[in-house]
Amino acid sequence: MLIQFKFQVEIIMFNIFYVKISIAMVREEIISWLKDNPSTAVDLSKQFNRSQIGIEEDLDHIRTSIRDNPSIILAIRPAMCLMCEYIFSTDRTKAPTKCPECHAEKIRLPSFVIQDK
Ligand SMILES: [Zn+2]
Repeated sequence: MLIQFKFQVEIIMFNIFYVKISIAMVREEIISWLKDNPSTAVDLSKQFNRSQIGIEEDLDHIRTSIRDNPSIILAIRPAMCLMCEYIFSTDRTKAPTKCPECHAEKIRLPSFVIQDK
């Protein structure tokens, strides 16, 4: 019983480890893709077959993790309201859904590119 439990814990630990490794690999692939292909979270979601929420988490993580990198930055073309041209802050990588000025929902999504410093 105890041995079986220990075995199951080891399988779970291995799976967590494996998921962490594969997320890190996807993030490396996203960084290399964004060097040549400016993309929105929707573009990346299709390219990497990953949910938009997952991609937005990846972009947040990438932005934080390369902050101290001396050679590259994650540049963001901000989201913009297509009705009144309100420009959204780039503080968040998550796509806004509604304009705070005119309340329209036609928003050009933010796009991301990795550039040399
Ligand atoms: Zn607007």
